Amino acid sequence: MIVATPAARAGIHCLAVPTPFAIGPINAYLIEGRPLTLVDNGPNCATSLAALEAMLAELGHRVEDLELLILTHDHLEHFGLTSTLVARSGADVACLASIADGVEDFDGWWAEVDAYIATLLARHGAPRPLVAAYRPSADLVRGFGAAARVTRRLRDGERLDLGERDVEILHRPGHSEGDIVVLEREHRILIAGDHLLSRVSSNALVTLGHDRDPEAPRLQALLTYRESLAATRELDVDVVLGGHDGMIENHRELIDERFDLHDKRARRFAELLEDGPTSAHELAVRLWGDTAYGQSYLTLSETLGHLDLLASRGVVDEDDSDRVTRYSLR
Ligand SMILES: [Zn+2]
Repeated sequence: MIVATPAARAGIHCLAVPTPFAIGPINAYLIEGRPLTLVDNGPNCATSLAALEAMLAELGHRVEDLELLILTHDHLEHFGLTSTLVARSGADVACLASIADGVEDFDGWWAEVDAYIATLLARHGAPRPLVAAYRPSADLVRGFGAAARVTRRLRDGERLDLGERDVEILHRPGHSEGDIVVLEREHRILIAGDHLLSRVSSNALVTLGHDRDPEAPRLQALLTYRESLAATRELDVDVVLGGHDGMIENHRELIDERFDLHDKRARRFAELLEDGPTSAHELAVRLWGDTAYGQSYLTLSETLGHLDLLASRGVVDEDDSDRVTRYSLR
């Protein structure tokens, strides 16, 4: 479905591409001009491709006409079709330089990520069967991604000449390490990928860093994400186009709501710690119940993020002298 937004008047069209995932469709954005540019595309499956193709046709274009594919980040539901589209169009592929190797070595990179996440779950107190189940369940969805060759490795602040307009690429790590947003200053439009979503608070995922060193200090994804949100809050834009759901016309208010939600949730975790030292997984179970088993990695990421926030405020201490890391009130 092509979603009507004010950005369409500026030649930026929102294409809601269906996915087989619970999150629902992802939004790809077609930017008219030369090169004809598509920001994100969809998971690697026939239904998504057919829908994308039909929407392009409605706008008078074919897959073969695409000249540049920009990837906002390396989550498979947003870029799984890249290599299929390139095979038919010969389009250039652009993403942040630091994630390009992982995009090109999709299977190898995600095998390392999944191994890291299984270790992370164990380290933070997830029971053994849950840890054992993580990798097979992750493998199931990896089929919706595919490696793609990256022909343009982007830097923070880089400008791209898209013929009728310039856009600026801004690095916004947090949801993932390689998130970028695409700023079109003339029409005050920001294409934000999963950095900012209208309906749900983006997960700040704790994962393997792109240096691919599992022994490196753990990412403090929520703290990083909040810095990125603060930077986006400063941008003078009228419309923010997210990677899911509807557009955002009041990004400052929405970002303030997200900050409030983080603060509120951090306070809740501090209350849960009043009973004594606890692992992050146990805290997730106390807050989310069964969801902490069904979505163990997402809930662990959220929990660790808020514990990092409490630690940065001097409220919480981390003790990893034992096999399982425990957190306590200072
Ligand atoms: Zn994502």
